[in-house]
Amino acid sequence: MIPLIDLHSHVSPAMLPGSPREELQPRWPCMHCLSSQKGSLLIGDTLFRDLDWRSWDADRRLEDMARDGVSMQVLSPMPELLSYWFDPKDAAVLCDASNHLIASLAASHPARFRGLGAVPLQDPVAAAQALPRLKSEFGLSGVEIGSNIMGRLPGDAAFDPFWAAAEELGMCVFVHALHPVAAKTIDPPPFYVPFALFPVDVAMAAASILMGGVLDRFPALRIGFSHGGGALGSILGRLDTGWHATDGFKQRAHASPSATARQMFYDSNVYDPAYLKFLAETALPGRIFTGTDYPYDIMQRSPAEFISSAGLDARALASVRVGAASEFLGEDLTQVMAH
Ligand SMILES: [Zn+2]
Repeated sequence: MIPLIDLHSHVSPAMLPGSPREELQPRWPCMHCLSSQKGSLLIGDTLFRDLDWRSWDADRRLEDMARDGVSMQVLSPMPELLSYWFDPKDAAVLCDASNHLIASLAASHPARFRGLGAVPLQDPVAAAQALPRLKSEFGLSGVEIGSNIMGRLPGDAAFDPFWAAAEELGMCVFVHALHPVAAKTIDPPPFYVPFALFPVDVAMAAASILMGGVLDRFPALRIGFSHGGGALGSILGRLDTGWHATDGFKQRAHASPSATARQMFYDSNVYDPAYLKFLAETALPGRIFTGTDYPYDIMQRSPAEFISSAGLDARALASVRVGAASEFLGEDLTQVMAH
């Protein structure tokens, strides 16, 4: 059996550090502040999400991994904890709470977990300076970042110090939907943001990286996107046409968007087996790794069955289960024990 690596799974600490300053209290996240029994995460006084021990307990996660046939989870912070809306020094307190948890889970079961950490990317230089420690002290494989950073798209040249450090250290970067830009200009109806706008924001992030020439400047970067790259698959043809029509976006991008898109990675979290097959065999072959969004309500349940239901050829199937994840993490995981 081919191992199954879940690249998109989240953790959240059972306890979070208190607000470092009084005035931050209304926006600071707090666990177990509603009840000592229930794992409710409050943002200030507002309930953000009910969590349970799947978010922080290795053994509980291993039970579900055994049930689902998942060989290894790659752990990343609950995106709301990326904390771009705080001063970078305050945000670093929350980032490190996630980093410590992820590092301890990964160290406790090195054959079953890998980790992606958090850095205060609202200050790209501080984020770049935080990366070496995440690799050397925390043993993390890379970092998770938001699809926008307080309204700035990741293809913006302001983030070059961060991209340069990630490339130099060989750390992968997982781009996850967070606080979609489009949500800021509308009064979104219930559920509109996570279900409709997350994939839009991920596509905006990917397009900004493609059009901004990030991979031209940092060709060894390994960048992956949540939610199958969101809407990117449907706009690649349009981006290519625009690239030809504008002399490569005025020579900002040396290769066509669809060619550069094939240097990046995307998860399988699209909930539609026919679309997964299109991505994995036609649009972005060899670039799709498994991602479930465990342990949240929206997660892809029975991921092995979902992937198998796409009817992929043998090569694409092996790539989605383990090959693309190995390449993204920079580590051969094909010999990890299948479960
Ligand atoms: Zn997620």
